[in-house]
Amino acid sequence: MTIKVAINGYGTIGKRVADAVAAQPDMEIVGVSKTSMNADAYVAKARGYPLYIADLAKRPDFEGAGVPVAGTVGEMIGKADVVVDATPGGIGLKNKPMYEEHKIRAIYQGGEKHETAGFSFNSSVNYAEAKGRQFTRVVSCNTTGLVRIIHEMDREFGVEMVRAVMVRRASDPGDIKRGPVDAIVLDPVTLPSHHGPDVRSVLQHIRITTAAMIVPTTFMHLHVLQMTLAKPATRERVLELCRAHPRIGLVTKAAGIRSTAELKEFMQDLNRPRSDMWENGVFEESVSVEDGTELWLFQAIHQEADVVVENVDAIRAMCSDVPADESVRMTNAALEFVAL
Ligand code: NAD
Repeated sequence: MTIKVAINGYGTIGKRVADAVAAQPDMEIVGVSKTSMNADAYVAKARGYPLYIADLAKRPDFEGAGVPVAGTVGEMIGKADVVVDATPGGIGLKNKPMYEEHKIRAIYQGGEKHETAGFSFNSSVNYAEAKGRQFTRVVSCNTTGLVRIIHEMDREFGVEMVRAVMVRRASDPGDIKRGPVDAIVLDPVTLPSHHGPDVRSVLQHIRITTAAMIVPTTFMHLHVLQMTLAKPATRERVLELCRAHPRIGLVTKAAGIRSTAELKEFMQDLNRPRSDMWENGVFEESVSVEDGTELWLFQAIHQEADVVVENVDAIRAMCSDVPADESVRMTNAALEFVAL
């Protein structure tokens, strides 16, 4: 059976999820939607995705620019088994009555609160629990990156406490409206930040405290992560676990990379689509274990990319009987993605 997928909100995340879905052998895109005409509509047309719009009054803007409109968002949803809601944060909640009315499964993004879906997803942790649900939320880019590495360490050693500092990108590369241009912004100035509680929406038992700041860059987030482990670990075992994980990559010493800019360039040169880094980029040289139980590391998180593969797995988790490991394998294989 082919899973029919609609993408409501064809922006930074939606356009990436659409391409990742279209690459899967067991899924097809029945439509993507937008609110207003812009370059993304030309991309949808070039990809052959039927384009639906939220407000039919805007149809002339699209058709006048040579982009056919297939119909309304409601009509698109009527053709789908599941909708990926990648509209800006907060709009997903407003869309919920429409999904309830159509009795359609919906996958929300991290800009929505946990309560909007009632279930927060990460393919490494709780894939099987998505089965049978109408609503699932793929957690934010930062939370996805934190959850992947914390869960992996927790499975092997037990994690007693996590302290994390997130150095966050100011805006996505194509976003000209956000800053700062020349400042480090405490986000928020109160401690801790909201990221810790968000991690606990997936890993309820983990003790974690977080702080975050925004810096003038667009490429990626950079996490400084410290975990107190219950059982003694070795640096080599931590590196082995990272190497074995399908969504955690190691930025090796040999690569000579010590910045997000060089990492982004590396992805581009590897011909990753849109230079996307779907995996956590753990800096091999940073991984250190002190006194057996204090683990430290740096990891880079590509905000536009890491959640994309999670959305593909969430679709399978909700709409098929494919088990978690197989879904992750299929998702990665269809994208020709092997973690660093
Ligand atoms: P975006 O602004 O790039 O894209 C949103 C798209 O939704 C736009 O194309 C817009 O035209 C469309 N849209 C707006 N209202 C709509 C409506 N009512 N119906 C249909 N389409 C509508 O936003 P984004 O960055 O892709 O973020 C989407 C979601 O993903 C948010 O919840 C965000 O928090 C989350 N997220 C974003 C990032 C990131 O770094 N950009 C990372 C992880 C998660």
